[in-house]
Amino acid sequence: MGIETKSISIEKVKTSRIDQIDFNNLAFGSVFTDHMLVCDYKNGAWELPKIVPYQNISLDPSSKIFHYGQSIFEGMKAYKDKNDAIFLFRPLDNHKRFNISANRMCIPEIPEDYFMDGLTTLLKLDSAFIPTNAGSSLYIRPFMFASGKGFHASPADEYKFIIACAPSGAYFAGEVKVLIEQTYSRSANGGVGFAKAGGNYAGQFYPTQLAIAKGYNQVIWTDDTEHEYIEEAGAMNIFVRINDTLITGPTSDRILDGITRKSIIEIAKKEGIPVEVRKITVTEVVNAAKAGTLKEMFGAGTAAVISPISAFGFKDTDYALPKLDTPYAQRIKKIITDIQYNKSDDPYGWRYKVTN
Ligand SMILES: *Cc1c(COP(=O)(O)O)cnc(C)c1O
Repeated sequence: MGIETKSISIEKVKTSRIDQIDFNNLAFGSVFTDHMLVCDYKNGAWELPKIVPYQNISLDPSSKIFHYGQSIFEGMKAYKDKNDAIFLFRPLDNHKRFNISANRMCIPEIPEDYFMDGLTTLLKLDSAFIPTNAGSSLYIRPFMFASGKGFHASPADEYKFIIACAPSGAYFAGEVKVLIEQTYSRSANGGVGFAKAGGNYAGQFYPTQLAIAKGYNQVIWTDDTEHEYIEEAGAMNIFVRINDTLITGPTSDRILDGITRKSIIEIAKKEGIPVEVRKITVTEVVNAAKAGTLKEMFGAGTAAVISPISAFGFKDTDYALPKLDTPYAQRIKKIITDIQYNKSDDPYGWRYKVTN
């Protein structure tokens, strides 16, 4: 199946902005490609997607996105191999999760062909923007929000689905020092923590700023009732290595079902690394740190792939993680990125070629 690619109308830019981009000094997600995909939901149906020059969008001040926060997004990347072939990583999983988020926020689902054909058509058009320096990629941001009007607190009747892309450099978070949160919560039982909803991020900024003011880079979120179960690392899933066993918490309605997380679990199994998906308590992590059996902690997400944690703070005490010669973090990250950049075989079937 698939919408005919020719049914996606394309309005090209008159002059490309590609010469203004310094591909040797790319930050993360701050310069954009020439075009974007836009699709409107009106009268109970999605209209055909359009590709237009990257531009501002105009919205009525009463649009419900501004008042009631019906807004979701995805984060994915496109990679070029040494022959300039373009690849995505498990993109159908992003599409599925997008619709899971949409359902929770009362936003209409976007059909798979609109998402995939829209994305691949856009990538082919803006392919010159996919960077080729080591570790760099094109960050892709699909998002959907309520454009329908009215101050009435109810789901909107109109929505916009947009895909915008940003050439981005290798994302080195550096040494990340985290604070195990004991007061605030990112999400709650029965809430929206599993959805990639904008509001989940807005709620994180304030506690994260308090942690930054204390000298940390990120917060480790714990469960909302006891603050005793380790849940997520900032906007990433979290892994803990005790002795030789890699442990991550089970997903739930409070935890986002990360594609990097589930890829790491599968890779660990195949590599013969003992891996457990079970609840991890703060007590267990603190005791392991004291006993010297806590070997690694890292965050997992599309942007950084794996972001190693150098130390964590808990109740006014900092615990440093040991420096290992070949941490799991480094070993697994190489396996994932080699698949993403088409540098290795892909026994998992995760690589998705964007063909011409
Ligand atoms: C996006 C996200 C992740 C990571 O998901 P990936 O699919 O691996 O990029 C983890 N936690 C939160 C809260 C997220 O929003």
